[in-house]
Amino acid sequence: MGTFWKEECGIFGVFGHPEAANLTYLGLYALQHRGQESAGIVSSEGRGLYAHKEMGLVSEIFDKEVLKRLPGRSAIGHVRYSTAGGSHLKNAQPFVFDYSKGGIAIAHNGNLTNAQTLREELEREGAIFQSTMDTEVIVHLFAHAYPGNTVERVIAALKEIKGAYSLLFLNEKELIAARDPYGFRPLVLGKLKKGYVVGSETCAFDLIGAEFIREVEPGEVLRINEDGIQSFHPFPRVEPKFCIFEFIYFARPDSYIFGHNVYQVRKQLGVQLAKEHPVEADVVIPTPDSGFPAAIGFSHRSGIPLELGIIRNHYVGRTFIEPKESIRHFGVKIKLNSVREAIKDKRVVVLDDSIVRGTTVRKNMRMIRNSGAKEIHVRISSPPITSSCFYGIDTPTKEELIASSHSVEEIRRFIRVHSLGYLSLEGLKRCVAPRQEQFCYACFTGQYPVSPPQEKVQLDFFIKEV
Ligand code: AMP
Repeated sequence: MGTFWKEECGIFGVFGHPEAANLTYLGLYALQHRGQESAGIVSSEGRGLYAHKEMGLVSEIFDKEVLKRLPGRSAIGHVRYSTAGGSHLKNAQPFVFDYSKGGIAIAHNGNLTNAQTLREELEREGAIFQSTMDTEVIVHLFAHAYPGNTVERVIAALKEIKGAYSLLFLNEKELIAARDPYGFRPLVLGKLKKGYVVGSETCAFDLIGAEFIREVEPGEVLRINEDGIQSFHPFPRVEPKFCIFEFIYFARPDSYIFGHNVYQVRKQLGVQLAKEHPVEADVVIPTPDSGFPAAIGFSHRSGIPLELGIIRNHYVGRTFIEPKESIRHFGVKIKLNSVREAIKDKRVVVLDDSIVRGTTVRKNMRMIRNSGAKEIHVRISSPPITSSCFYGIDTPTKEELIASSHSVEEIRRFIRVHSLGYLSLEGLKRCVAPRQEQFCYACFTGQYPVSPPQEKVQLDFFIKEV
């Protein structure tokens, strides 16, 4: 895989509403934080599929004219930052294809762990791939599954794949939603006055006034059509492994996923952190934006007042969306600035959600130092990240994860601060109790619920890409 941090994806779908494409556009707008590289919508008015996708942000890609060309009462959409496959329009989703029974579109959030093996098998049998997406494997398996109606074909395809997937399929007659047996990535179901909606996070429902019904269950396949909703459970049940990183960093704080409100969990992480790593200080400073909720929790628990000592320029893209290392570093500098008056001569506790390579926090701490802080104490609302993710969060290689080869003390020295405290794994688990065993902590423990792909296979896949 690439050596960059990359965001995951967001998916959204509507069935049975005359404004399906417009609502999908709004849904994607709310899910933009899950991927800023490309976006697409496919709609249907019952006879055909209409698609529009481009590189860029949702607001740049869609306007009234484009949306007018997406008619019908059903639609699915996708925002993407590549986790598998490169950064090209041909990899933008939803992916639309024709097979013997007509057209179908697919939108995927997650990462398959056996995609390369399946792809090689399919290619040996004569399949020709149009993209480098692992998602296209599902498309071929779907087309190969014969005979069967759409949902049966979907299920047959899902039985072949391993790893993380929250998926939406759309054809002329129905919308199918599916979540892998471990439920790594979120997927929620909602209701409009007319019709149903399915999406990655509930924040998308709030924007369009949809009522949250429930989460699509791990291992569940939902068929939504004119007759209503039908639920299938084609896989043996296993203990879920929800991605804990959704709570730490990815999901929007106003969303409800995995049985919790994200903001409340994040705030609790800060409370727990204050219990584990108390410090005498004058101010708590959040690193915008992801450090905010934990900083509030830390401040409440410790009694140390919160100050906005770092300000973010909201018109700069997230640093990690820049593909080149050189630009990424530049991005950090233009994104955040310190408020000298809130920092000078103070003992500051700086909160951030995670340390990945260590470059961001190091730069931020230099900025805080230059603003005249008397003491700097860093508190991180997650445990040290020591292992790569293979389930839809694109992580750097293990070697690039600073905590995989450096102790906390070494990292403290590297970022040049007085103290550094990470949240413990036990503390993290306490914040999602009593369901703590239902989460995947592989990025902190290296214990993978689904075997990761072999390193070599992965590398080959990537080399084809560049
Ligand atoms: P680094 O410089 O690699 O240590 O970056 C760590 C920063 O990136 C933290 O402030 C996080 O908020 C943010 N971050 C954590 N995970 C991700 C991710 N998967 N993609 C992009 N940014 C992330």
